[in-house]
Amino acid sequence: MKCPPWCLTHRETATRDEEWHVSRSWEVPVVVSRPFVPEEHIVRLARGDQLDVVIAQHRSDQEPWIAIAAEEAGGGELVMSLESADRLARTILETLVSVRK
Ligand SMILES: [Zn+2]
Repeated sequence: MKCPPWCLTHRETATRDEEWHVSRSWEVPVVVSRPFVPEEHIVRLARGDQLDVVIAQHRSDQEPWIAIAAEEAGGGELVMSLESADRLARTILETLVSVRK
């Protein structure tokens, strides 16, 4: 399978069942709000974290996916279609315009 131009770290198993095109990682330093329970009351603390954004496409996929993973947040990953990523990016920009009015 020919690699797309963005493929930097091509990954495949010996049987090629798991063959992925994976882009470079875009690292985004972020400050996030995390719950913390010192005693009886939950408080929320600002914490530094990093989001890693990559493009990934399995050999059986018609289109690539955008994957966003937080380094410190328990290994969770959000994988979405290009259209969804576009919608999310536009929504975040709208919320920023609203909150700064
Ligand atoms: Zn590739």
